[in-house]
Amino acid sequence: MRILVISDIHANLTALDAVLAHAGTIDAAWCLGDLVGYGPDPNECIERVRELPDLTCILGNHDAAALEQIDSATFNPEARQALHWTQNALTETSLAFLKQLPERVDTPQVTLVHGSPRQPVWEYLLDTFNATRCFEHFKTPFCFVGHTHLPIIFYMQNERNLAQLQVPDPDSAPILQPRSIVNPGSVGQPRDRDPRAAYAIYDSGDHCWDYHRVAYDIGAVQSRMTALGLPDRHIQRLAAGW
Ligand code: ZN
Repeated sequence: MRILVISDIHANLTALDAVLAHAGTIDAAWCLGDLVGYGPDPNECIERVRELPDLTCILGNHDAAALEQIDSATFNPEARQALHWTQNALTETSLAFLKQLPERVDTPQVTLVHGSPRQPVWEYLLDTFNATRCFEHFKTPFCFVGHTHLPIIFYMQNERNLAQLQVPDPDSAPILQPRSIVNPGSVGQPRDRDPRAAYAIYDSGDHCWDYHRVAYDIGAVQSRMTALGLPDRHIQRLAAGW
């Protein structure tokens, strides 16, 4: 099965549409959370994701915040401003969709969370020490995460050792080795200095991780954000990928 793996769309419909066009035909879609927050198109992105075939979608911290399940005081001032805009913009239909999202799904081969298998909504998996600890919190060969907006593969060759990390090259299509924790990067707000939208196609047969970056019309998204009065910091960062 060709499974589309996407995360951290952050209400950026132009980036999402570029990814879907590039991905082509897929059998299923796994979305690892943060559909909303920061960007100008929260309802449109939710609608688009809901149309994906055989969808499994996970709750992210921005989704939880939009539902007021998280105190907005934990966000920095600009993120809080974007959050309040998002809360006002979301339709009842969108809120109902976000409300039923699970924090974790264990498929036979892959555990799906937003942050980490240890703290599904909140933990940022950025280093090999924390990644090593997280291998104790899932049993499947693979765990897919989002949240950091950084495409990365943590892998454990020997469970007694420290996890290793690898940053895959776009279009390099490595075969995932058990056990691994894998992040496809962010569709709508990449933070690895490459502003192109990130996603992967996971082949559930041979465990190939077909990871890609796709250029999209960043200026169009920035114009919509400016017109809506969204924070300048979030507008600027899209072009530089930070
Ligand atoms: Zn995010």
